[in-house]
Amino acid sequence: MNLSSGGEIINYGFDHGNIMSEKIHHYDFVDEIRICPLCGYGDGFHNMFRREGRKTHWFLICSSCHEVFDYGLEYKG
Ligand SMILES: [Zn+2]
Repeated sequence: MNLSSGGEIINYGFDHGNIMSEKIHHYDFVDEIRICPLCGYGDGFHNMFRREGRKTHWFLICSSCHEVFDYGLEYKG
């Protein structure tokens, strides 16, 4: 993968298919989250949740390029 934005490598700690780690792209939530900033896909995102202690981070996965994004969202349940 050749990615231009910054990010961090997240190790999920389990072997699920071939993906052991994934790059998380951090962006600010401004007005609306709909269009993928990397590939321009405009029909929204898949959801992904990751528990970290008492917090549950809410990540978004692009339906087209399958990159993972962190807009600072957090599941409160
Ligand atoms: Zn995309």
